[in-house]
Amino acid sequence: MHFRSSILAAAAVVLISSAARADRSHEYPVRPVPFTAVEVADGFWAPRLETSRETTIPYCFEKCEETDRIANFARAGGLQDGKFEGIYFNDSDLYKIIEGAAYVLTLEKNPKLDAYVDSIIAKIAAAQEDDGYLYTSRTIFLAAKEGEERYHPPGGEPRWSAPGGHELYCVGHLYEAAVAHHKATGKRNLLDVATKNADLICRTFGPDKKENWPPGHQEIEIGLARLYRLTGKQEYLDTAKFFLDARGRAEGRKFGLFGKYSQDHRPVVEQEHAVGHAVRAAYMYAGMADIAALVQDPSYVKAIDRIWNDVVRTKLYVTGGIGAAGGHEGFGDPYDLPNRVAYCETCASIANVYWNHRLFCFTGEGKYIDIMERTLYNALLSGVSLQGNTFFYPNPLETEGRRSRAPWFGCACCPSNISRFIPSMPGYVYAVDEEGDRPTVYVNLYVASDSTLTVQGEKLRMKQATNYPWDGRAAITIDSDTTGNVTLKLRIPGWARGEATPGGLYQFVDIPERFTLSVNGARVESKVSDGYVRIDRTWKKGDRVELTLPMPVQRVIADRAIHEDRGKVALQRGPIVYCIEGVDTEAKSLPGLMIEDDVELTGKFDADLLGGVGTIEGIAQETRWVKGEDGGKTLARLPMAFRAIPYCVWAHRDAEGMAIWLGRTTEGVRPDPLPTIASTSTARASKGDVAALNDQREPRTSGDHANRFLHWWPSKGNLEWVEYKFAAPTKVNAVEVYWFDDTGRGQCRIPESWKLFYRDGEAWKPVARPSEFGCTIDTYNRTTFEPVTTDGLRIEVQSQEGWAGGIHEWKIEGEEK
Ligand SMILES: [Zn+2]
Repeated sequence: MHFRSSILAAAAVVLISSAARADRSHEYPVRPVPFTAVEVADGFWAPRLETSRETTIPYCFEKCEETDRIANFARAGGLQDGKFEGIYFNDSDLYKIIEGAAYVLTLEKNPKLDAYVDSIIAKIAAAQEDDGYLYTSRTIFLAAKEGEERYHPPGGEPRWSAPGGHELYCVGHLYEAAVAHHKATGKRNLLDVATKNADLICRTFGPDKKENWPPGHQEIEIGLARLYRLTGKQEYLDTAKFFLDARGRAEGRKFGLFGKYSQDHRPVVEQEHAVGHAVRAAYMYAGMADIAALVQDPSYVKAIDRIWNDVVRTKLYVTGGIGAAGGHEGFGDPYDLPNRVAYCETCASIANVYWNHRLFCFTGEGKYIDIMERTLYNALLSGVSLQGNTFFYPNPLETEGRRSRAPWFGCACCPSNISRFIPSMPGYVYAVDEEGDRPTVYVNLYVASDSTLTVQGEKLRMKQATNYPWDGRAAITIDSDTTGNVTLKLRIPGWARGEATPGGLYQFVDIPERFTLSVNGARVESKVSDGYVRIDRTWKKGDRVELTLPMPVQRVIADRAIHEDRGKVALQRGPIVYCIEGVDTEAKSLPGLMIEDDVELTGKFDADLLGGVGTIEGIAQETRWVKGEDGGKTLARLPMAFRAIPYCVWAHRDAEGMAIWLGRTTEGVRPDPLPTIASTSTARASKGDVAALNDQREPRTSGDHANRFLHWWPSKGNLEWVEYKFAAPTKVNAVEVYWFDDTGRGQCRIPESWKLFYRDGEAWKPVARPSEFGCTIDTYNRTTFEPVTTDGLRIEVQSQEGWAGGIHEWKIEGEEK
């Protein structure tokens, strides 16, 4: 990345505390045009915005009532009796929904919503302790009388005593909500609560203060930056910066290291790779960008740009989702991007949008908007239904059975984050750079809209007409005269330039036709620089810019380093990534489908499907194993029609299975295997997911979490068993077992020992002359024995002392029918 010379120059300038408001010269060089200035009038976002306003936000408030998230504040404030309900960080959900409601109130007068929010704020204010402390789970806990049933927040009684206690995380969201609410209504009721709390935090935390450690879950850095921008209070900025700088420095630490999980393994400016919990990480990177802008320190930006490169080159899903691993809700190893068990938390997508947008605001480079757009239209939107009242927490790229979004979660971070993100979406369409003598307007997203920008104090009205994301033509009409020369920069998205993602983790098979650009009907030749074409002009009312981005169906392939996507192809049209659901093809199994490069693909628009969406149709090949006359097997192909739909609207119909990645060559298909003795057996076990034993899925290693496995955890050191009952008596002579062992990650290990039995009537008898009972990791352990005709086999497994264990796959050899 290149820095703006102004940032580097300004870094040397001594920072002077401003009296009332944050100093505008210490800000991002590129300033987003606020959502209040952009009136969306399209067929894609406008319904989403309306649903968010009419359904999601009121619905989420209702859920907060139902689940006592609001009552917790009343109880902490002594307005109501009762114990704390829910999870200790539930306060944060309510703050985020208030933030969303504030955005709604910014755009329209809604006395009912306004009054309702005030009624909640009264409870929040009541819950605040005299010195500003606000965290209902601890306040209720400490106020409980002797003998009462009490919810014990983590970490014991003293404040701030739990590293993962989330006190700071929650109030970070409070600050964001308070700033939004004040801007919307002009009221101070929530803002006063926020500043009183922030003053306490600033008195308590700092390099030379009683508490000198960083939060277990980042968010307060962003919140304090917003509060600083509104109030100009220097302590807020200093404390936000302290929270970043305290990370990764064990010296003087109260609780020792939080480690990689909370990005606390190294000082933030020295970090190079995206690690740990993805939402924590991306909130932190967004916070680093804010602080870098406000204190003009490029070292933070250098760090997050290094990390950005790590993510887009090795840890990003084609949907723009981040955080592959469910175990720690976070980043996996480079290129470890499993599809079926992809985590891709909705919150992580929102955080990824925040982070990329901020990097753009530093540099004016389109590559960040490319990633932002990919995440926005795919991984993020998948998190909420078209109806706005059901939600995904993880957003996998492939499923087998039926999946549906849930009405709510015990940990409701995702629905509340959706509540605040969607209403703010119009704020990502435009940006303005007023530095230098020639101001620049960036057109980042193509969204039919009517906008009034402020450029160097002058109003600039712009209309955008487009049917994006289903069509790549956009016309921008200038609706007011300008007096000065204004540069208009139109983003040419990566997908229109043949670049699926910067750095090449994903690539298009074909390069699309070049875009065309005209002003008032006259063709303009312009080369793309940093992802934009530029037009310099003194604009007059009625000037019309027309951009045509050819939008063919595009085939995406992944770097071969992503094992799961080898030999596979994904379909994209415009910014939208498509998927196939079981209901859209007659194929027996989606993993058996193959779309070779010569298959013709047709992009359409179906007004009657899912509220009106683009579709892709074609004839794929379904691959199936068939038994040859010589007993061998061959791969047969059947032509099979399919229709693909946008991934962001999957799981709205009664569909079995979904897949984004499909076979491109035979390497990438996984047709249903032919039946075997094992696969036609009925499996039982002392414990665990027995269907894993004979699903004929090959693990890559013993620790392969992406492959379905049976485990006995948390049962440790015990004698466990698994059994097959054959479909009919069969002569068998060998078995192969692939043990599950997640050393370095979990508590399962290869067994201490095992034995094999066959069924003789009602009795289990040891097989005769077994060759060996191997306990080798990362391979099949084969045991031959004297052939026996039986209707079942049983394995008894002695787990290692202090460890659990499990099995990926158990195969049987014998006379197959
Ligand atoms: Zn979440």
